[in-house]
Amino acid sequence: MVAELIKGHEIANTKREQMKMEVEQLSKQGIVPGLVVIILGEDPASQSYVRGKQKACEKVGIDGKLIELPEETPESDLLGLIDQLNNDDSCHGILVQLPLPNHISEKAVIEAISPDKDVDGFHPINIGRMMTGQRAFLPCTPFGIIEMVKAKGIEIGGKHVVIIGRSNIVGKPVGQLFLNENATVTYCHSRTTNMKEMTTQADILVVAVGRADFIGKEFIKPGAIVIDVGVNRKEDGKLTGDVKFEEAMEIASYITPVPKGVGPMTITMLLHNTILSAKWSHQAEGVN
Ligand code: NAP
Repeated sequence: MVAELIKGHEIANTKREQMKMEVEQLSKQGIVPGLVVIILGEDPASQSYVRGKQKACEKVGIDGKLIELPEETPESDLLGLIDQLNNDDSCHGILVQLPLPNHISEKAVIEAISPDKDVDGFHPINIGRMMTGQRAFLPCTPFGIIEMVKAKGIEIGGKHVVIIGRSNIVGKPVGQLFLNENATVTYCHSRTTNMKEMTTQADILVVAVGRADFIGKEFIKPGAIVIDVGVNRKEDGKLTGDVKFEEAMEIASYITPVPKGVGPMTITMLLHNTILSAKWSHQAEGVN
């Protein structure tokens, strides 16, 4: 068997074209979705992520603003800025690029962002709403994963989904979203003792660990769908996932590549959430 690629960048491009048209329609009603991205310090990976987000905003017509602050910015200043943006009607989404410098509490920052502008979907209120099936901003990477599986016409209901990783931003929420789609979900993590026994039962295997070549074909059930979330940099500077790609290609039915897999979907769902936020904030005016 040779697996079919789930080309995240192609699915993302199709979605972004649709979003561009939607933003054009909104602008005719005087609504320009606005996203403010805040970055502290000069970490090259974070700088590259925020540039990617800004470029993506520009392409679909979202007003993307970047606020660059020095690494030593006091937490109180950052919280003050978030408060201002919470009260700024032209700003529909606020994203503070993680990780933050050690002197700033990630929890305090995430909770300071209004749940109505939390387009990353990290605020506990949005997580609670997601868990209880209410209207919520869904976290972008997990949301992107669900969307790419659906875009391939793969039925999720009744499938056994095994997730390796239980972080708050990927592992845990992606499991919840699969559960919301009526899958049966199993989580594995660093304390799981019988991981291979679990993963070889997976119809859909999601790997979000952050270790290059962590999963070989012996962990994969023949015909499984493999979603590789990991982004690891090799010695030659190239990006690679958590899954041994060539091996997995021989045994899986579908697989996401790295790069051009989950990554482009993450940014796309951020754009989606920003547009949704703009629409929700104008709903009283009849915007759907
Ligand atoms: P994380 O917070 O470091 O979590 C890693 C998870 O892997 C933890 O739950 C950990 O278990 C588990 N783990 C570590 N060693 C393990 C082992 N030997 N066996 C089983 N599980 C093990 O990472 P993350 O933020 O979720 O990100 C995971 C990867 O996805 C990273 O490569 C990251 O760069 C990538 N990522 C990609 C995107 C994208 O858009 N493409 C977005 C976000 C993240 P414990 O909880 O027990 O420690």
